[in-house]
Amino acid sequence: MMEKLPEYLRLAEMVTQKQNWKEALDASIPLVRSVLVFDNLALYLINEQKHILDEIVFARAVGRGKSAEADAAWGEKVAAQVVGENSMIVQEPKQVDSANRVHFPFVLGLPLRTSYGLVGAVIFIRFGGPAYTPDQVMCAQMVATQFSSLFDRKHLQEQVERMQDASRVVALQEDFIATISHEMRTPLGFIKGYSTTLLRQDIDWDDETRSEFLTIIDEEADRLNTLLQNILESARLQSETLPINFQPVRLDALIRDTVIRAQARYRDLKIDIEASACPPVLADSVRLAQVLENLFSNAAKYAPGAPVHVKLTNDALHQQINVYDDGPGIPPEHLPHIFERFYRAQVNSSSGSGLGLFICRKIIEAHGGSIQAESPAGQGAHFTIKLPLAQAGTEAKG
Ligand code: ADP
Repeated sequence: MMEKLPEYLRLAEMVTQKQNWKEALDASIPLVRSVLVFDNLALYLINEQKHILDEIVFARAVGRGKSAEADAAWGEKVAAQVVGENSMIVQEPKQVDSANRVHFPFVLGLPLRTSYGLVGAVIFIRFGGPAYTPDQVMCAQMVATQFSSLFDRKHLQEQVERMQDASRVVALQEDFIATISHEMRTPLGFIKGYSTTLLRQDIDWDDETRSEFLTIIDEEADRLNTLLQNILESARLQSETLPINFQPVRLDALIRDTVIRAQARYRDLKIDIEASACPPVLADSVRLAQVLENLFSNAAKYAPGAPVHVKLTNDALHQQINVYDDGPGIPPEHLPHIFERFYRAQVNSSSGSGLGLFICRKIIEAHGGSIQAESPAGQGAHFTIKLPLAQAGTEAKG
C-alpha cells in the first residue's frame, strides 16, 4: 500500500480542485481504485429537511457489478445503518459461490462527517470478495474524509450564495425605499404647491387657471394612487394572493382597446398593431390590459419618441404578443434582472419604482404563461408574452 500513497495524496488535490462535487467524485474513482479495489461505489446523503437518508445521490459500477448493474447491490441497508449508528460498518458474506459472485457483496460503509455534522454514507462494494484488510479499511476512511470535505465545501458555497441573495434583497429594498420616497415626493410636492397657491387669500384666480391647477392636483393624486396600488399589488403578487378572474378573452380586441387608452395618455406614443382575429384565451382581461399598459408606459418613458410595434400571433397551444420598441434598449447586464421586484436599470433616470415588470411577470405567470425580454444591439427592447390558448389555459393557476 505504501507505494500507492502519492496517488492517494493526489486525491486530496483533485477533491479541492473540482468545482462540482459529482465531477470530483467521478474524477477521483480511478485514483481511489488504485489504492482500494472495489466494484461499486455509492453515496447516500441525509435529507436536511426530513432528517432521513435520501435516495442514492451517486452510484458507479466499475468492476464485476458493471454488466449486472441493475440487479447489483448498492448497500442501501448498510448505508442506513452507517447513518443510524454514525459509525463504520463492514458486512461480508460467510461464504461465496464463485460462479455467481454478484450475489455475494462485501460491503464497506463509512459515515460522511463534515464540520456541520453527519451528512450521509459512502459505500464500497466488492462482489465475491476478497474481504477488506485493515489497511484497506484505513484507506477507505481516508477516502471518506476526502469525500466529506466535498460536502463541507458545497455547504459553504450554498451559505455564501444564500448570504449574497439576502444582501442583494436588502440592497434592492434600500434602493426601493429611496426610489419610492422620491416617487411620492414629486406628486406630493405638486399637490401641496398648487393647493397652497389656490388657497392664497391675496390672489383671485380666474376660472381657467383654477381649473388648470385643480387638474394638476387631480392627476398627481392619481399618480400617487397608482404608485400605492403597485406597491400593494406587488406585495400580494409576491405572496400569490392576488385574485385572477379567468374569462374567455379575445386578445386582438384587448390589444386595440389598450393601445387606444395608452395613446390618449401618452400623446407622443406611436403604436402600430399587427393582429388578426384569433381564438380566445382564458384570462383576466383587466390584468392583461395592466400588463400591456405597463409595457406601453415603459416604452413612453424609456424609448420616448420611438415607434412601438405590437404583434399578435398564435400556434396550436399558445398566443404570442410581441411588443417591440425602437428605443435605446436594455443593457445586457441588466436584462436578466428587469423582471425582479424593485429592479431598475437606470436608477437615476425617469420616474419608476422597479415594480412594473415584476407585476407583469407575476400576472402572466398566474395565467400559466411566460414573459421574456430581449434587446438586440441597436434594436430597442423586445418583450414576448406567451399565453396558453383557452383549452390549455384551463390548467392555469389562479
Ligand atoms: P420602472 O418602475 O423602473 O419602470 P419596471 O419594472 O417597469 O420598473 O422596469 C424595470 C427596468 O427595466 C426599468 O428601470 C428600465 O431600466 C428597464 N426598461 C423597462 N422597459 C424598457 C424599455 N422599453 N426600454 C428600455 N429599458 C426598459
